[in-house]
Amino acid sequence: MCRHLGYLGPPIPLASLLFDPPHSLAHQSWAPKDMRGGGTINADGFGVAWYPDGGNPVGYRRTSPLWTDADLRVLARATAAAAIIAAVRSATVGMPVTEPAAPPFLERQWLFSHNGVVAGWPDSVSPLASRLPVQDLLTLDAPTDSALLWALVRHRLRAGAPLAEAVRETVVEVAAAAPGSRLNVLATNGTTLVATTLGHALSVRAGHGAVLLSSEPLDRDPAWRPVPDGHLVIATQSTVDISPLPTE
Ligand code: GLN
Repeated sequence: MCRHLGYLGPPIPLASLLFDPPHSLAHQSWAPKDMRGGGTINADGFGVAWYPDGGNPVGYRRTSPLWTDADLRVLARATAAAAIIAAVRSATVGMPVTEPAAPPFLERQWLFSHNGVVAGWPDSVSPLASRLPVQDLLTLDAPTDSALLWALVRHRLRAGAPLAEAVRETVVEVAAAAPGSRLNVLATNGTTLVATTLGHALSVRAGHGAVLLSSEPLDRDPAWRPVPDGHLVIATQSTVDISPLPTE
C-alpha cells in the first residue's frame, strides 16, 4: 500500500533516497517488504517534491512506475535539497491512476502524502467532506481518498493551524468517521516533518543533524527505529517526538 519517505537535514541528492540505498524507494516500488494490509508492488505512479534554496517546493509526478523513469535518474543525481518527500503509489482498487492522484500533494510551503485507505469510501467521509468549501471539492486534486485527506488537512493549514495539529485533527476525525481506515500520512512545511502510523509501517532514522522517516528502512543501518502503530511523529533536523494518537 504505497511507500513514502521524508527527509530533513543537510542538502542531499534526491538519488540518495530514490535510487542509491539497497532498499531505496525505487527498490521498494517493485520489491517492498512490508505491504501489510494489501497490495503487491507500487507501480501506479510516483512523486517526489523538494525545496529549492529558500523557495516553495516543486514536484515531479508521473503515472508510470518509478523504476521505468530514466530521466528521473539523471535529475535525481543533479538535484540536491534539504527537505524532500517522495512516494510510490499502489492505487486502491477503483481509484484513478492519474498524475494529480500521486502523492506528494503540494500547496505553498506544504507537502502531503498518504499511505493507506479510507474505509467505506466515499460514504463514510461524506459528512466530513461536506464541511469543506464547495470550491475545495470542485478542485480536489483527484477523486481519491488521499486527495480528500489532503483537502481536509489543507483547509486547517489555510486557516492558520500548525502542521502537526492539522494532521493530528484530520487523522483523528477520519479514523472516527471511517473505522478500520489505514491512515499513514506524511507532511512537511520544509522545516518540520509530521507523520502518523495507523495501519502501516514507518521507521525513523535520526542523527548528525538529519532525520529520515520511511515506510521501510532504506538500508541495514542499526539506527533505524520502527514507529509503533497509532502514533504521531513530529520531527525536525535535531528532534524527534513520538506520541500516541488519541484514536480508539
Ligand atoms: N488509497 C490511496 C490511493 O489510492 C493510497 C493507496 C496506498 O496507500 N496504496 O491513492
